[in-house]
Amino acid sequence: MNRLQFIIFLFLSSNALGQKITYNYVVDSTKVETKEVMMLFENYLASNPQNQTENPFWNREEQQKHKNYDFLESEFHPSLYMGFPVHVLSLQSKKDIYRIKAQFSYNKQDGTPYVLAIANYVAKRENGKFKLFNALTVNKQTWNCTTVGVVDFYYPTYHKFNYQKAQKLNGFINEICNNFGVKPKPFEYYLADDYDEVQKLKGLDYYMGMGGPSKPRGKATDDKVYCGGLGEYYTHEVFHVQIDQHYPNKHFWVSEGIATLLGGSRGKSLDWHIKRTNIHLRKHPEINLNDMLKLTNLDNETSYHYVLGGLIAKKILDKGGWNLIKEFMSEGKTDEDYYNAIKKYLGIHKAELNSYLRQQIQIESTK
Ligand SMILES: [Zn+2]
Repeated sequence: MNRLQFIIFLFLSSNALGQKITYNYVVDSTKVETKEVMMLFENYLASNPQNQTENPFWNREEQQKHKNYDFLESEFHPSLYMGFPVHVLSLQSKKDIYRIKAQFSYNKQDGTPYVLAIANYVAKRENGKFKLFNALTVNKQTWNCTTVGVVDFYYPTYHKFNYQKAQKLNGFINEICNNFGVKPKPFEYYLADDYDEVQKLKGLDYYMGMGGPSKPRGKATDDKVYCGGLGEYYTHEVFHVQIDQHYPNKHFWVSEGIATLLGGSRGKSLDWHIKRTNIHLRKHPEINLNDMLKLTNLDNETSYHYVLGGLIAKKILDKGGWNLIKEFMSEGKTDEDYYNAIKKYLGIHKAELNSYLRQQIQIESTK
Protein backbone atom coordinates (compact mmCIF):
# COMPACT_ATOMS: atom_id res chain seq x y z
CA MET A 1 0.00 0.00 0.00
CA ASN A 2 2.92 2.38 0.59
CA ARG A 3 3.61 2.70 -3.08
CA LEU A 4 -0.03 3.49 -3.74
CA GLN A 5 0.01 6.08 -0.99
CA PHE A 6 3.08 7.68 -2.55
CA ILE A 7 1.41 7.85 -5.92
CA ILE A 8 -1.73 9.24 -4.34
CA PHE A 9 0.42 11.95 -2.78
CA LEU A 10 1.98 12.64 -6.15
CA PHE A 11 -1.41 13.13 -7.71
CA LEU A 12 -2.86 15.17 -4.93
CA SER A 13 0.01 17.60 -5.39
CA SER A 14 -0.70 17.92 -9.09
CA ASN A 15 -4.47 17.85 -8.74
CA ALA A 16 -4.69 21.61 -9.03
CA LEU A 17 -3.66 21.25 -12.66
CA GLY A 18 -7.02 19.69 -13.43
CA GLN A 19 -8.16 16.28 -14.62
CA LYS A 20 -6.69 15.30 -17.98
CA ILE A 21 -9.09 13.42 -20.29
CA THR A 22 -8.16 11.55 -23.45
CA TYR A 23 -10.01 9.09 -25.68
CA ASN A 24 -8.84 5.75 -27.00
CA TYR A 25 -11.15 5.51 -29.98
CA VAL A 26 -14.75 6.59 -30.10
CA VAL A 27 -16.91 5.17 -32.85
CA ASP A 28 -19.38 7.79 -34.01
CA SER A 29 -17.57 10.65 -32.31
CA THR A 30 -18.99 13.16 -34.79
CA LYS A 31 -22.61 12.34 -33.88
CA VAL A 32 -24.27 15.17 -31.93
CA GLU A 33 -25.55 12.85 -29.22
CA THR A 34 -22.16 11.16 -28.73
CA LYS A 35 -20.52 14.56 -28.40
CA GLU A 36 -23.10 15.54 -25.83
CA VAL A 37 -22.28 12.48 -23.72
CA MET A 38 -18.52 13.10 -24.05
CA MET A 39 -18.99 16.69 -22.88
CA LEU A 40 -21.19 15.54 -20.02
CA PHE A 41 -18.51 13.18 -18.73
CA GLU A 42 -15.74 15.76 -19.16
CA ASN A 43 -17.79 18.38 -17.34
CA TYR A 44 -18.48 15.99 -14.50
CA LEU A 45 -14.79 15.13 -14.06
CA ALA A 46 -13.95 18.86 -14.08
CA SER A 47 -16.56 19.66 -11.43
CA ASN A 48 -14.60 18.33 -8.40
CA PRO A 49 -16.76 15.21 -7.99
CA GLN A 50 -14.59 14.17 -5.01
CA ASN A 51 -16.62 16.68 -2.96
CA GLN A 52 -19.98 15.07 -3.80
CA THR A 53 -21.76 18.39 -3.59
CA GLU A 54 -24.84 19.19 -5.70
CA ASN A 55 -23.90 18.50 -9.30
CA PRO A 56 -25.68 19.51 -12.55
CA PHE A 57 -24.10 16.63 -14.52
CA TRP A 58 -25.34 13.79 -12.29
CA ASN A 59 -29.01 12.78 -12.31
CA ARG A 60 -31.35 14.35 -9.74
CA GLU A 61 -32.95 11.14 -8.53
CA GLU A 62 -29.74 9.54 -7.20
CA GLN A 63 -28.63 12.88 -5.75
CA GLN A 64 -31.87 13.11 -3.80
CA LYS A 65 -31.70 9.55 -2.52
CA HIS A 66 -27.99 9.33 -1.63
CA LYS A 67 -25.69 11.80 0.09
CA ASN A 68 -22.76 10.19 -1.74
CA TYR A 69 -24.57 9.73 -5.02
CA ASP A 70 -21.56 8.56 -7.09
CA PHE A 71 -21.00 5.08 -5.62
CA LEU A 72 -17.49 4.74 -7.08
CA GLU A 73 -16.16 7.99 -5.62
CA SER A 74 -15.26 6.42 -2.25
CA GLU A 75 -13.70 3.25 -3.73
CA PHE A 76 -10.24 4.76 -3.25
CA HIS A 77 -8.66 6.94 -0.61
CA PRO A 78 -8.94 9.83 -0.64
CA SER A 79 -11.14 9.51 -3.74
CA LEU A 80 -11.36 7.89 -7.17
CA TYR A 81 -11.13 11.49 -8.38
CA MET A 82 -7.73 12.19 -6.85
CA GLY A 83 -6.29 13.48 -10.10
CA PHE A 84 -5.34 10.42 -12.16
CA PRO A 85 -5.58 11.18 -15.89
CA VAL A 86 -8.72 9.62 -17.36
CA HIS A 87 -8.63 7.73 -20.64
CA VAL A 88 -12.04 6.85 -22.12
CA LEU A 89 -11.76 3.35 -23.56
CA SER A 90 -15.20 3.05 -25.10
CA LEU A 91 -18.59 4.66 -25.46
CA GLN A 92 -21.35 2.22 -26.19
CA SER A 93 -24.94 3.14 -27.06
CA LYS A 94 -28.08 1.08 -27.06
CA LYS A 95 -31.38 2.83 -27.67
CA ASP A 96 -31.05 5.96 -25.53
CA ILE A 97 -28.59 4.54 -23.01
CA TYR A 98 -24.87 5.24 -23.24
CA ARG A 99 -22.20 3.29 -21.36
CA ILE A 100 -18.89 4.99 -20.71
CA LYS A 101 -15.84 2.88 -19.88
CA ALA A 102 -12.98 4.93 -18.47
CA GLN A 103 -9.49 4.06 -17.29
CA PHE A 104 -7.88 5.99 -14.42
CA SER A 105 -4.15 5.59 -14.92
CA TYR A 106 -0.83 7.21 -15.67
CA ASN A 107 2.42 6.20 -17.32
CA LYS A 108 5.39 5.64 -15.06
CA GLN A 109 8.79 7.06 -15.97
CA ASP A 110 9.87 3.82 -17.62
CA GLY A 111 6.75 3.95 -19.82
CA THR A 112 4.75 1.18 -18.15
CA PRO A 113 1.17 2.05 -17.30
CA TYR A 114 -0.02 2.22 -13.70
CA VAL A 115 -3.76 1.54 -13.66
CA LEU A 116 -5.86 2.55 -10.65
CA ALA A 117 -9.23 1.49 -12.04
CA ILE A 118 -11.38 0.85 -15.07
CA ALA A 119 -14.79 2.26 -14.23
CA ASN A 120 -18.14 2.24 -15.98
CA TYR A 121 -20.79 4.95 -16.02
CA VAL A 122 -24.20 5.19 -17.61
CA ALA A 123 -25.57 8.29 -19.37
CA LYS A 124 -29.33 8.56 -19.84
CA ARG A 125 -31.76 11.37 -20.43
CA GLU A 126 -33.46 12.92 -17.42
CA ASN A 127 -36.11 15.48 -18.39
CA GLY A 128 -34.68 15.53 -21.90
CA LYS A 129 -31.04 16.15 -20.96
CA PHE A 130 -28.24 13.59 -20.64
CA LYS A 131 -27.14 12.95 -17.05
CA LEU A 132 -24.75 10.46 -15.48
CA PHE A 133 -26.01 7.45 -13.50
CA ASN A 134 -24.27 4.79 -11.43
CA ALA A 135 -23.66 1.60 -13.38
CA LEU A 136 -25.01 -0.23 -10.30
CA THR A 137 -28.45 1.38 -10.67
CA VAL A 138 -28.81 -0.13 -14.14
CA ASN A 139 -26.84 -3.37 -13.60
CA LYS A 140 -28.65 -4.44 -10.41
CA GLN A 141 -31.77 -5.04 -12.48
CA THR A 142 -30.08 -8.21 -13.79
CA TRP A 143 -29.70 -9.65 -10.25
CA ASN A 144 -32.37 -11.11 -8.00
CA CYS A 145 -33.65 -9.13 -5.05
CA THR A 146 -35.27 -10.42 -1.85
CA THR A 147 -36.25 -8.24 1.09
CA VAL A 148 -36.04 -9.70 4.58
CA GLY A 149 -36.60 -7.31 7.50
CA VAL A 150 -34.64 -4.10 6.90
CA VAL A 151 -32.36 -5.65 4.28
CA ASP A 152 -32.77 -5.65 0.49
CA PHE A 153 -30.56 -8.54 -0.58
CA TYR A 154 -29.25 -8.42 -4.17
CA TYR A 155 -27.61 -11.59 -5.50
CA PRO A 156 -26.66 -13.25 -8.80
CA THR A 157 -29.11 -15.66 -10.43
CA TYR A 158 -26.93 -18.73 -9.65
CA HIS A 159 -27.22 -18.07 -5.90
CA LYS A 160 -29.81 -19.98 -3.91
CA PHE A 161 -31.19 -17.55 -1.36
CA ASN A 162 -30.80 -18.64 2.27
CA TYR A 163 -33.72 -17.27 4.35
CA GLN A 164 -32.33 -18.66 7.56
CA LYS A 165 -29.11 -16.70 7.21
CA ALA A 166 -31.05 -13.61 6.12
CA GLN A 167 -33.20 -13.83 9.24
CA LYS A 168 -30.14 -14.43 11.40
CA LEU A 169 -28.63 -11.24 9.96
CA ASN A 170 -31.76 -9.31 10.95
CA GLY A 171 -31.43 -10.77 14.43
CA PHE A 172 -27.85 -9.49 14.55
CA ILE A 173 -29.01 -6.03 13.40
CA ASN A 174 -31.70 -5.85 16.07
CA GLU A 175 -29.26 -6.91 18.75
CA ILE A 176 -26.49 -4.43 17.91
CA CYS A 177 -28.95 -1.57 17.36
CA ASN A 178 -30.42 -2.33 20.76
CA ASN A 179 -26.96 -2.40 22.38
CA PHE A 180 -25.95 0.89 20.77
CA GLY A 181 -29.30 2.60 21.31
CA VAL A 182 -30.04 3.29 17.63
CA LYS A 183 -32.87 2.45 15.24
CA PRO A 184 -32.21 -0.25 12.60
CA LYS A 185 -32.12 1.36 9.17
CA PRO A 186 -33.04 -0.22 5.84
CA PHE A 187 -30.11 -0.76 3.45
CA GLU A 188 -29.05 -2.61 0.31
CA TYR A 189 -26.85 -5.68 0.67
CA TYR A 190 -25.05 -6.99 -2.42
CA LEU A 191 -23.64 -10.52 -2.18
CA ALA A 192 -21.90 -12.96 -4.51
CA ASP A 193 -19.57 -15.95 -4.22
CA ASP A 194 -16.64 -13.72 -5.08
CA TYR A 195 -16.24 -10.04 -4.22
CA ASP A 196 -15.10 -9.11 -7.73
CA GLU A 197 -18.53 -10.07 -9.11
CA VAL A 198 -19.98 -7.35 -6.92
CA GLN A 199 -17.28 -4.92 -8.05
CA LYS A 200 -18.21 -5.68 -11.65
CA LEU A 201 -21.91 -5.05 -10.93
CA LYS A 202 -20.95 -1.77 -9.30
CA GLY A 203 -19.15 -0.78 -12.50
CA LEU A 204 -15.55 -1.70 -11.76
CA ASP A 205 -14.01 -3.90 -14.45
CA TYR A 206 -10.64 -3.47 -12.76
CA TYR A 207 -9.41 -1.85 -9.54
CA MET A 208 -6.02 -1.73 -7.83
CA GLY A 209 -6.02 -4.73 -5.46
CA MET A 210 -8.15 -7.00 -7.66
CA GLY A 211 -7.35 -10.70 -7.92
CA GLY A 212 -5.54 -13.11 -5.61
CA PRO A 213 -7.12 -16.18 -4.04
CA SER A 214 -10.87 -15.80 -3.56
CA LYS A 215 -11.52 -14.96 0.11
CA PRO A 216 -14.40 -13.36 1.98
CA ARG A 217 -14.27 -9.60 1.44
CA GLY A 218 -16.64 -6.77 2.09
CA LYS A 219 -17.11 -3.04 2.14
CA ALA A 220 -19.71 -0.80 3.72
CA THR A 221 -20.69 2.68 2.59
CA ASP A 222 -23.21 4.94 4.32
CA ASP A 223 -26.21 3.04 2.97
CA LYS A 224 -24.91 -0.13 1.33
CA VAL A 225 -23.01 -3.30 2.05
CA TYR A 226 -21.05 -5.05 -0.69
CA CYS A 227 -19.66 -8.46 0.14
CA GLY A 228 -18.40 -11.71 -1.29
CA GLY A 229 -17.87 -15.16 0.13
CA LEU A 230 -20.16 -15.21 3.19
CA GLY A 231 -23.62 -15.16 1.68
CA GLU A 232 -26.37 -13.44 3.66
CA TYR A 233 -24.40 -13.18 6.91
CA TYR A 234 -21.52 -10.68 6.60
CA THR A 235 -21.84 -9.09 10.02
CA HIS A 236 -18.62 -7.03 10.11
CA GLU A 237 -19.78 -4.71 7.32
CA VAL A 238 -23.35 -4.65 8.62
CA PHE A 239 -22.03 -3.28 11.92
CA HIS A 240 -20.39 -0.42 9.96
CA VAL A 241 -23.54 0.43 8.01
CA GLN A 242 -25.81 0.40 11.06
CA ILE A 243 -23.67 1.95 13.78
CA ASP A 244 -20.75 4.04 12.40
CA GLN A 245 -22.72 7.14 11.43
CA HIS A 246 -24.18 7.49 14.93
CA TYR A 247 -20.71 7.76 16.48
CA PRO A 248 -18.76 10.12 14.22
CA ASN A 249 -16.13 11.09 16.81
CA LYS A 250 -14.23 7.79 16.98
CA HIS A 251 -10.81 6.52 15.96
CA PHE A 252 -10.56 4.15 12.96
CA TRP A 253 -9.27 1.36 15.24
CA VAL A 254 -12.32 1.71 17.54
CA SER A 255 -14.74 1.09 14.71
CA GLU A 256 -12.69 -1.73 13.16
CA GLY A 257 -12.07 -3.31 16.55
CA ILE A 258 -15.72 -3.47 17.54
CA ALA A 259 -16.72 -4.64 14.05
CA THR A 260 -14.19 -7.48 14.36
CA LEU A 261 -15.25 -8.35 17.91
CA LEU A 262 -18.87 -8.64 16.74
CA GLY A 263 -18.45 -9.85 13.18
CA GLY A 264 -14.92 -11.18 12.73
CA SER A 265 -12.67 -10.16 9.87
CA ARG A 266 -12.32 -11.72 6.41
CA GLY A 267 -14.62 -14.52 7.43
CA LYS A 268 -12.70 -15.51 10.59
CA SER A 269 -13.52 -14.77 14.24
CA LEU A 270 -11.53 -12.45 16.49
CA ASP A 271 -10.32 -15.51 18.46
CA TRP A 272 -8.91 -17.05 15.30
CA HIS A 273 -6.98 -13.85 14.52
CA ILE A 274 -5.73 -13.60 18.12
CA LYS A 275 -4.27 -17.11 17.98
CA ARG A 276 -2.38 -16.34 14.76
CA THR A 277 -1.17 -13.03 16.15
CA ASN A 278 0.13 -14.79 19.26
CA ILE A 279 2.28 -17.13 17.18
CA HIS A 280 3.56 -14.24 15.09
CA LEU A 281 4.41 -11.99 18.04
CA ARG A 282 6.27 -14.77 19.86
CA LYS A 283 8.43 -15.22 16.78
CA HIS A 284 8.99 -11.47 16.57
CA PRO A 285 9.95 -10.03 19.95
CA GLU A 286 11.25 -6.93 18.14
CA ILE A 287 7.72 -5.79 17.17
CA ASN A 288 6.90 -2.95 19.54
CA LEU A 289 3.20 -2.70 20.34
CA ASN A 290 3.74 0.54 22.24
CA ASP A 291 3.50 2.09 18.78
CA MET A 292 0.80 -0.28 17.57
CA LEU A 293 -1.04 2.37 15.55
CA LYS A 294 1.91 2.47 13.16
CA LEU A 295 1.40 -1.23 12.34
CA THR A 296 -0.83 -2.21 9.45
CA ASN A 297 -0.95 -5.82 8.22
CA LEU A 298 0.51 -8.87 9.90
CA ASP A 299 0.01 -10.75 6.61
CA ASN A 300 -2.82 -11.05 4.03
CA GLU A 301 -5.13 -12.71 6.55
CA THR A 302 -4.73 -10.59 9.66
CA SER A 303 -4.45 -6.84 10.18
CA TYR A 304 -3.37 -5.23 13.43
CA HIS A 305 -6.27 -2.77 13.50
CA TYR A 306 -8.72 -5.69 13.47
CA VAL A 307 -7.02 -7.97 15.95
CA LEU A 308 -5.57 -5.48 18.46
CA GLY A 309 -8.52 -3.11 18.03
CA GLY A 310 -10.82 -6.11 18.62
CA LEU A 311 -8.95 -7.24 21.72
CA ILE A 312 -9.04 -3.75 23.25
CA ALA A 313 -12.78 -3.46 22.52
CA LYS A 314 -13.30 -6.88 24.15
CA LYS A 315 -11.45 -5.80 27.30
CA ILE A 316 -13.57 -2.65 27.56
CA LEU A 317 -16.79 -4.58 26.98
CA ASP A 318 -15.79 -7.13 29.66
CA LYS A 319 -15.07 -4.30 32.05
CA GLY A 320 -18.12 -2.06 31.63
CA GLY A 321 -20.56 -3.55 29.16
CA TRP A 322 -22.13 -1.68 26.23
CA ASN A 323 -22.37 1.60 28.11
CA LEU A 324 -18.60 1.76 28.41
CA ILE A 325 -18.20 0.76 24.77
CA LYS A 326 -20.55 3.59 23.76
CA GLU A 327 -18.44 6.09 25.71
CA PHE A 328 -15.29 4.63 24.14
CA MET A 329 -16.83 5.28 20.71
CA SER A 330 -16.89 9.03 21.27
CA GLU A 331 -13.36 9.63 22.51
CA GLY A 332 -11.96 11.36 19.43
CA LYS A 333 -10.35 10.54 16.12
CA THR A 334 -6.63 11.16 16.59
CA ASP A 335 -4.03 8.56 17.58
CA GLU A 336 -3.45 10.46 20.80
CA ASP A 337 -7.20 10.28 21.56
CA TYR A 338 -7.10 6.51 21.08
CA TYR A 339 -4.10 5.98 23.38
CA ASN A 340 -5.72 8.28 25.95
CA ALA A 341 -8.98 6.32 25.79
CA ILE A 342 -7.11 3.05 26.50
CA LYS A 343 -5.52 4.68 29.52
CA LYS A 344 -8.89 6.06 30.66
CA TYR A 345 -10.88 2.81 30.29
CA LEU A 346 -8.27 0.11 30.89
CA GLY A 347 -5.70 1.99 32.96
CA ILE A 348 -2.89 1.07 30.54
CA HIS A 349 -0.36 3.73 29.57
CA LYS A 350 1.01 3.83 26.04
CA ALA A 351 4.46 2.71 27.27
CA GLU A 352 2.89 -0.40 28.85
CA LEU A 353 0.95 -1.52 25.78
CA ASN A 354 3.60 -3.89 24.42
CA SER A 355 3.80 -5.98 27.56
CA TYR A 356 0.06 -5.73 28.33
CA LEU A 357 -1.13 -6.71 24.85
CA ARG A 358 1.37 -9.55 24.44
CA GLN A 359 0.28 -10.95 27.79
CA GLN A 360 -3.45 -10.64 27.00
CA ILE A 361 -3.00 -12.18 23.55
CA GLN A 362 -1.23 -15.11 25.16
CA ILE A 363 -4.05 -15.56 27.73
CA GLU A 364 -6.81 -15.29 25.11
CA SER A 365 -5.01 -17.77 22.83
CA THR A 366 -5.00 -20.49 25.42
CA LYS A 367 -8.68 -20.08 26.39
ZN1 LIG B 1 -14.33 -2.82 8.91
